[in-house]
Amino acid sequence: MRKVIYSPKYSLYNLGKEHPFSPLRAEMTLDLLQSLGALQDYIEPEEVQPEELFEIHDKEYVEKVEKVSAGETVEDIENFGLGTQDNPITPGMAQGARIIAGGTKLGAKLLLEGEAKKVLQMGGGFHHAHPRLASGFCVYNDLALAIKEMTKQGWHVVYLDLDVHHGDGVQDIFYSDGKVMTISLHESGEYIFPGTGWLYELGQGMGRSLKLNLPLEPFTEGDSYLEVIEGAVVPALRWFRPDALVVQAGADPHYSDPLADLVLTTQDFERIYRRVFELADEFTKGNLLITLGGGYSITATSRIWTILYLLFFNLPLPEVLPHEWRKKWGEKLGREIPEFLHDLPNPFDEIPRKPEIVRLNRDLVRRLMDAVTADWL
Ligand SMILES: [Zn+2]
Repeated sequence: MRKVIYSPKYSLYNLGKEHPFSPLRAEMTLDLLQSLGALQDYIEPEEVQPEELFEIHDKEYVEKVEKVSAGETVEDIENFGLGTQDNPITPGMAQGARIIAGGTKLGAKLLLEGEAKKVLQMGGGFHHAHPRLASGFCVYNDLALAIKEMTKQGWHVVYLDLDVHHGDGVQDIFYSDGKVMTISLHESGEYIFPGTGWLYELGQGMGRSLKLNLPLEPFTEGDSYLEVIEGAVVPALRWFRPDALVVQAGADPHYSDPLADLVLTTQDFERIYRRVFELADEFTKGNLLITLGGGYSITATSRIWTILYLLFFNLPLPEVLPHEWRKKWGEKLGREIPEFLHDLPNPFDEIPRKPEIVRLNRDLVRRLMDAVTADWL
């Protein structure tokens, strides 16, 4: 049983016309699916109430977010990460974030109640939000809220973060939690936001050796990325055997992303998603919840999430994109829309330092496995 969660109201979470975290990314994806005749019925979630967020966020923080989003003046809001360039204050922000959090939480409930085995939440993935801090375009941590819903019922969860940025918020919230394993593949914090996600961040107390970080080299390509999945993610799932796998499917490891430097192609994303579905079947009793996330090249992101959606429903991937859809969005965005679903072959001439990057990433996996497996016995 596969279910999709989405609401047009997700677009209330709009941080401004020039802001990279645009609701147009999901709208463009759904519109493409519609024009391909592939759009399935989706479930529209209810928004969570502010009190429900106290599971994850401090009461004081939630109250300030709600007030400031309603137009009230709140002192010291910058101490909570709001009113910054990354997290500007906009009118629909709090309500939009609560509807999206409601969607991800609903995904957890559908799995817990056996109403679905696989859930695709066409929004969310706010992995940088902390208990009392907005950060990296994120205000309320929908992922942590959903994971908490599962652990409250005694479930063990693996959280796999495929966004190009470290999943710092989710990791920190469950840092001492023995029921949650977090695994983040990201471009090394030496080069990009948020500057964390180092190998030595392994968790503490009951959570020790359950927080796995793979800070990848810039210009890591698809083969090396998949090798890291095989070398670290697969053994971790095989050992931990969670009741569910929660995946943040940010599209920003794509080579054209303006905010990061990994060089995955759409073909690589297809291979990764196919592997994720296999892994869920093999190691998590099939329970899988996927959210969206980052992805700031809108023409790549809409194609990547369309691939994710089509694979989710076992639908065929078309080669060519519909002309009317390309025309409509080309005019709307004022830019050329690619003709094909997949990237053209060899989109970049060559990857600098490729053998060295492959070697460094292998070494990273080896050092991480050495560090954690001693505790896994
Ligand atoms: Zn990201």
